[in-house]
Amino acid sequence: LEWQLRKSDTLNVVGELAAGIAHEIRNPMTALKGFIQLLQGSIKEDYSMYFNVIMSELKRIESIITEFLVLAKPQAIQYQQNDVCKIMKDTIDLIGAQAMMHNVQIIADFEENLPWIYCEPNQLKQVFINILKNAIEVMKKGGDVHVRIQKADHHYIRISVTDQGCGIPQDKIKKLGEPFYTTKERGTGLGLMVSYKIIEEHQGKIDVESEVGVGTTFHITLPMERVEKENEDAARI
Ligand code: ADP
Ligand code: MG
Repeated sequence: LEWQLRKSDTLNVVGELAAGIAHEIRNPMTALKGFIQLLQGSIKEDYSMYFNVIMSELKRIESIITEFLVLAKPQAIQYQQNDVCKIMKDTIDLIGAQAMMHNVQIIADFEENLPWIYCEPNQLKQVFINILKNAIEVMKKGGDVHVRIQKADHHYIRISVTDQGCGIPQDKIKKLGEPFYTTKERGTGLGLMVSYKIIEEHQGKIDVESEVGVGTTFHITLPMERVEKENEDAARI
């Protein structure tokens, strides 16, 4: 319990504020979308161009919120022993429709009998969503996304997400996780920032391997056991 309190304290002020705002924006957004759709049905002249712009801007706000929302409820943060494979399976189910729309198949390959690890399931789910979403988005012609989960060694589990997308130039890899860094016309540049932050709080790390024109792998390494604060520096990976 003590550790949970300490961790929720460390969520930085900017993150907490943004997340709180994101949470508050969600309800009015839903109402706006609903009424605009109703309006669209009852207006006679052809304003479809305006409506398309309105809807696409609303969707943009929505994706910004989705990438932030999990940080919006620090009181709900609950670390416990969890099955990472189960969390990943749930995430793949959640994102399945989106993958199909992009002609992307997600192929799961999980080592058997992996130990449960100490983590915050909703936050990990958020990381998996953000990384899978990126993988799907960069595969313009569709293809396969491989998700592997295996033991890295006696102390760590490794989750690897490999896509067949555009790849990332070597000099851009260090920019990943910077707030608002995006190369997409409609990107937010928030997904990886949130993901890196969550994995850091889990005492894990994210490594990226990429080859331009071939694809990219995001490796998430997570400790099976939590290391207590006193030893944190020594145990940093
Ligand atoms: P967004 O997806 O909104 O752009 P992210 O933080 O999720 O924001 O990602 C930041 C940037 O990192 C992307 O715009 C893209 O340039 C790069 N990136 C992330 N994942 C991948 C990937 N799987 N393949 C290629 N580039 C990626
Ligand atoms: Mg993204």
